[in-house]
Amino acid sequence: MSTTAQSVWNNCLSFIKDNIQPQAYKTWFEPIVAVKLQENALSIQVPSKFFYEWLEEHYVKILKVALTKELGETAKLVYIIKMENTYGNRQPFTEKIPSSNRTPVKSQEVDIPLNNKSPELKNPFVIPGIRNVKIESQLNPNYSFENFLEGDSNRLARSAGLAVAAKPGGTSFNPLLIFGGVGLGKTHLAHAIGVDIKDKYPEKTVLYISAEKFTQQYIDSVKKNNRNDFIHFYQIIDVLIIDDVQFLSGKSGTQDVFFHIFNHLHQNGKQVILTSDKAPVDMQDIEQRLLSRFKWGLSAELQHPDFETRVSILKNKLYRDGVEMPDEIIDYVAKNIKTNVRELEGAIISLIAQSSFNRKEITLELAKQIVEKFVKNTKREVSIDYIQKVVSDYFQMDVDTLQSKTRKRHIVQARQLAMFFAKKMTKASLASIGSQIGKRDHATVLHACKTVDNLSSTDKQFRKYVEDIAKKLSV
Ligand code: ADP
Ligand code: MG
Repeated sequence: MSTTAQSVWNNCLSFIKDNIQPQAYKTWFEPIVAVKLQENALSIQVPSKFFYEWLEEHYVKILKVALTKELGETAKLVYIIKMENTYGNRQPFTEKIPSSNRTPVKSQEVDIPLNNKSPELKNPFVIPGIRNVKIESQLNPNYSFENFLEGDSNRLARSAGLAVAAKPGGTSFNPLLIFGGVGLGKTHLAHAIGVDIKDKYPEKTVLYISAEKFTQQYIDSVKKNNRNDFIHFYQIIDVLIIDDVQFLSGKSGTQDVFFHIFNHLHQNGKQVILTSDKAPVDMQDIEQRLLSRFKWGLSAELQHPDFETRVSILKNKLYRDGVEMPDEIIDYVAKNIKTNVRELEGAIISLIAQSSFNRKEITLELAKQIVEKFVKNTKREVSIDYIQKVVSDYFQMDVDTLQSKTRKRHIVQARQLAMFFAKKMTKASLASIGSQIGKRDHATVLHACKTVDNLSSTDKQFRKYVEDIAKKLSV
């Protein structure tokens, strides 16, 4: 590589870095390699055709400005698209399965294992040697790309999804990690990719599974002593979609097995698609080696949809349901429900239901009532951390003290109050409250809730505590 190409490109990069979002810079510019400079043409190598198209579509202006600054008006940019789907440099597969046992993975008519009618994915195992069996994809055909409306909030994730669907395992987006908050479309998009792949490549084995079910299956396999069958089953999949991988946090056994499966699939050019409610950097209790695998591909965020996108999602939903609704009402709903597509849809569904049950016309008045209910019911849930912070501030102690093992009365009371409010104000289970507040068990939390109830009806001072804290938590 010529040093001039490198230094010209470095200057361009530092200019670009100052002018775009850090995440975008990381995703779209860090992977680029400057290759050569000839006359006034800089050649850069990009990981895929999609990558090149994305750069052209979104960053061509800034590239031009940067390059012109360096090389003058006659500057030219040449893209070199690296051959896709090369796995040669990746780390070797480390799973200790004798190679003779590795199920032949080429032709993809595989095994019976999934019984579609049972609510659980039962016994998802391939009986070695048996061919010509089908794996149910567990995909929901309603979750298609067509129904997944595009907006600024999801453009990157959606396009990356389309690119992956066009060439599963053949882009640099492997794994593709889709992350974002509740109700923003992670599950929908993950299905859409699977559905599209099934459509384009019917012979490929696609499997959608939640991380929770995956974990359950793994635990079962350990109990039944067929962990290897479990691994084999997953290793013959062409496109593995695992939803809500944040669920794996703290579960080191499952993480370990997933790590091996992931490596095997990746090595063999199979596609992995993951979703999570957090960006990889924010994932807790996920092993480092797994996190760094997640970062091999692309992490694409689903953000809160903007107003226009919310309107088009609503219109699309109404259109599919064959319902007409005045624009004024659609606008009203879209304006007032902002952070969650699931709630947006929920409001419109209940609006339609209300009006048809009561044979009422859909009026703005009715919309207001329903939206108000929605906004109230889904009032921002306070976090357990926040509750602990408020309670310990109130008693002028720090959170560590509140969580400590001590039996000192005032500390015990503070802890019990925190548990009581956590039960009241969050949807967390007793067990999860206990584990977050000083690693106690669910019985301790239950006891705390009862104690607070009792004390607040018998002890005036204590009742004052409850009222004060409730006030602090409600603002
Ligand atoms: P998540 O998995 O992120 O919690 P979901 O995928 O379950 O969210 O999406 C919640 C609901 O919102 C689903 O009914 C989904 O179809 C809908 N939805 C989300 N984003 C979009 C979108 N861009 N276009 C159409 N519907 C969407
Ligand atoms: Mg989901």
